[in-house]
Amino acid sequence: MGIVKVHDKSFETYLTEEMIQARVKEIGQSIAEDYKGRKPLFIVILNGSFMFAADLFKHLDVEAEICFIKLASYKGMKSTGKVVTSIGLDEDLFGKDVIILEDIVDTGKTLHNFLPKLLHQQPKSLRIAALLHKPEATEFKLTLDYVGFSIPNKFVVGYGLDYDGLGRNLKEIYQLV
Ligand code: 5GP
Repeated sequence: MGIVKVHDKSFETYLTEEMIQARVKEIGQSIAEDYKGRKPLFIVILNGSFMFAADLFKHLDVEAEICFIKLASYKGMKSTGKVVTSIGLDEDLFGKDVIILEDIVDTGKTLHNFLPKLLHQQPKSLRIAALLHKPEATEFKLTLDYVGFSIPNKFVVGYGLDYDGLGRNLKEIYQLV
């Protein structure tokens, strides 16, 4: 709890470890309930979602597959607007129940650009689970099926999320002061 410094900026605790863990557990339980007997495939969007994905997977009492893909549209604290794919998807999604795991949905641009590529492969179903959502920042409308926390339009770090490469190891989520 308290204030942390990452690079030149100060951040204060916004979501505690207990709050995050309790919510991630609830999401894992809801997904397990919804996907009983269906063997979903999780697509984790790196880098920021690695902690969310690891914790969620521990609470997932259902058979499931997982794979990882890297997309990026952020540099520093601003979206560059361009979404770059640097690790491609080598799974075949045809006929699969796919769940995308994303750390945070901000403008919605990253997923808005990426979803057509996935849908092109004709998965049986496609849902999105986002740990954080900034509703005030929405520019591209998306249906988010599982949301951990709706948060104000302020930059956050911790629990996998970085500020220019640092801060990902923090167990809590911190907001820019
Ligand atoms: P979108 O395309 O929805 O605008 O942005 C999604 C991506 O931007 C997220 O996956 C994340 O990498 C990054 N992002 C958006 N807001 C924040 C934030 O407050 N903190 C950090 N660290 N990254 C963010």
